[in-house]
Amino acid sequence: MKTIGLLGGMSWESSLEYYRLINQIVRERLGGLHSAKSILYSVEFAEIEAYQHQGEWDKAGEILIHAAQALERAGADCLLICTNTMHLLAPQVQAAIDIPLLHIADATAVAIKKAGLTHIGLLGTEFTMTMDFYKGRLIDQHGLHVLIPPDAPRQQVHRIIYDELCLGKILPDSKATYQAIIADLVTAGAEGVILGCTEIGLLIKEGDTAVPLFDTTYLHAATAVDFALGDSD
Ligand code: GLU
Repeated sequence: MKTIGLLGGMSWESSLEYYRLINQIVRERLGGLHSAKSILYSVEFAEIEAYQHQGEWDKAGEILIHAAQALERAGADCLLICTNTMHLLAPQVQAAIDIPLLHIADATAVAIKKAGLTHIGLLGTEFTMTMDFYKGRLIDQHGLHVLIPPDAPRQQVHRIIYDELCLGKILPDSKATYQAIIADLVTAGAEGVILGCTEIGLLIKEGDTAVPLFDTTYLHAATAVDFALGDSD
């Protein structure tokens, strides 16, 4: 079994989920007392969040590269950046290490295509919903049609992530807000919706909406387990 390197802490609320999921998936696949070999490097999220909102991506990149290299030195065989948003820096991080970075958008797109869907809604931070590193990758590299909410609901989705979900606040009103935004995406043609922020799965779960949900945290964790167990194509 290979060792999974987790670059987490963004936020730690979702890193907990990654840790739980990779171990749970290994147990489901191998049974008994089997568990995942993993190493977690957890960053200080307040520093990262400040750099994000000031547009100082290079400074955030220095932190991520330092952490990724530390994970590689510690024995990780692959790297997961445990947040959708910070995949903005995935090319720079991959260039600084010799182990493969398993991209969260690719893991998600594979599942969407497997489900036979082509028109997909995307919820995440403003960065993830609007910038090319993520939405563009789904369109250009995976041929998907991506729908995002208009301005005002996009801001609500973003605010709830930083002011609530990353602080561990799971509020019924915010769940209803997300459900309404998802319903509008479905009306606009979405056949399914990407939970494109690693904390959204704490708020909205399969069955809460009329269409299938693609939880990036779960799909990313499952892809890492495929890699660790040698089950990837
Ligand atoms: N975990 C979130 C994501 O998947 C947001 C936190 C961050 O900005 O990294 O994008």
